[in-house]
Amino acid sequence: MHFRLRPSFSVILMSRRRNAPYRDRVEENGRVLIYEGHDIPRKEGYPPPKNADQPRKSPNGKLTQNGLFEEAALRAKRGDASPETVAVYEKIHPGIWAFNGLFLLTDSYQESDGNRLVFEFRLELTDSLNLRGIHSYALPHTRIIPSEVKQAVWKRDGGKCIQCGATDNLHFDHDIPYSKGGSSLVVENIRLLCARHNLSKKDRIE
Ligand SMILES: [Zn+2]
Repeated sequence: MHFRLRPSFSVILMSRRRNAPYRDRVEENGRVLIYEGHDIPRKEGYPPPKNADQPRKSPNGKLTQNGLFEEAALRAKRGDASPETVAVYEKIHPGIWAFNGLFLLTDSYQESDGNRLVFEFRLELTDSLNLRGIHSYALPHTRIIPSEVKQAVWKRDGGKCIQCGATDNLHFDHDIPYSKGGSSLVVENIRLLCARHNLSKKDRIE
């Protein structure tokens, strides 16, 4: 997690793969993401990260990423500030990250995972905003495509844009748009497109 990586938004990386180190989960039909905070770093002389409460502050007293996200979430919850915009990327393959959409950070709390205290952050999917620095990624997302579907599509399409073979800046595209009844849940309705072909498709529809 990276608080205000750019002036106008933050970034988090999630993983729902088996053996993922954190228990991120998707709720409310794909519109809400519950993101777990980060552990203490692995360091000699400190407890193993999974046995320690997730830290709000680092030993020098500065807020950690957990602390920064918590502060922003609670400010928004109290109505003292508008919610932080967070770009969410999901690991679908080693070294491959897919854009999952723009979310608003609306809540933060700590809970026990049975062993220690962890942070939980509530993120709600929002319609794409025109943020400087993210315009090429800010395509409309109305629902998160499940990880299993993304992984199957990735494999079927060979990790390439199905129109030009580009291997960078890839997006998971709905063949029939979600807004027109297309499903996010079936592999057959999702395909890999590069940003250029994803955008040119959008222009055609509008
Ligand atoms: Zn392409």
